[in-house]
Amino acid sequence: MPITYEHIKTCKQTGARLGRVHTPHGSFETPMFMPVGTLATVKTMSPEELEQMGAKIILSNTYHLWLRPGEDIVREAGGLHSFMNWDGAILTDSGGFQVFSLSDLRDIEESGVHFRNHISGEKLFLSPEKAMHIQNALGSDIMMAFDECPPYPATHEYMKASVERTSRWAERCLEAHQRPSEQGLFGIVQGGEYEDLRRQSAKDLTSLDFSGYAVGGLSVGEPKDVMNKVLEFTTPLLPANKPRYLMGVGSPDSLIDGAIRGIDMFDCVLPTRVARNGTCMTSTGRLVVRNAKFARDFRPIDENCSCYTCRNYSRAYIRHLIKANETFGFRLTTYHNLYFLLELMMQVRESIKNDRLGDFREEFFEKYGFNKPDAKNF
Ligand SMILES: [Zn+2]
Repeated sequence: MPITYEHIKTCKQTGARLGRVHTPHGSFETPMFMPVGTLATVKTMSPEELEQMGAKIILSNTYHLWLRPGEDIVREAGGLHSFMNWDGAILTDSGGFQVFSLSDLRDIEESGVHFRNHISGEKLFLSPEKAMHIQNALGSDIMMAFDECPPYPATHEYMKASVERTSRWAERCLEAHQRPSEQGLFGIVQGGEYEDLRRQSAKDLTSLDFSGYAVGGLSVGEPKDVMNKVLEFTTPLLPANKPRYLMGVGSPDSLIDGAIRGIDMFDCVLPTRVARNGTCMTSTGRLVVRNAKFARDFRPIDENCSCYTCRNYSRAYIRHLIKANETFGFRLTTYHNLYFLLELMMQVRESIKNDRLGDFREEFFEKYGFNKPDAKNF
């Protein structure tokens, strides 16, 4: 098995797991956050900077790389690691989420999905076999099964048919995977907010030999308490000896709440996307550095942060750069936000070690201002 999970400890206060995932490109401790490098680059960051801030695994998008530059070019380059000069681990999604979220014109059949390219309008077809073929060419350490990601809310009837199709597609993905000794493959549990369907999906998928399991179909517009409830009844259905990945979640509160519910891996475009908008995550809450009130504020973005940005640059300077559309400004806020989340996960792991993740959550939420009625979240 190219991907293995080593369990280190369970937090006595919360049940959160501390573990280590081993991949062909190094190991990382969990719970872990994965920065997103959609087009084989984490926007504005160099691989050296990612390494410096403690990123061990990044995510890249199959759909986007399939369209540009095309998986053949990446394969000719020696795979994604060599193409983008990143020695750490890489997880690729299946393209399913983009097909269902970016394309208005799509037609779902048993064989796969017909849709239009969101850039050129050209007609395309993605199937379990095609998604495996592309990810095999990209050479990621962890590939994801091709699933259907229905919108929220969906009826029980629709969701049931979708879960059954996703299970049949999952079998076809395992069948089509050409490099099982080099690349791990994760199955994705779907079922929306319906407990019986999550149970069905988990049962179908855990009867197949995946290297890990993701909880999909969350963070698609449902309230946070729905997400937490779904995790509470879903993660116990997943095998304890394999990694668990919550897809598309990256707000600080949800990372902590996901870890408490037994999740090991997370990814989200949130920290990098809001950074390019001049919005920063800090230990005392959300800070919109482009606001006028920071024009003469010469303190760092976060006085409790020891990242490259906070050690060297002021709010006033970063605000000026971002207002002037200077790339360096986006680099500085991106660096800080990613560092902040990676550091947060380190604190989560430390808290699990000391059996106090529940206390840490209280302290963090208090400082972050989540307990205030006017708290601004992401
Ligand atoms: Zn910082």
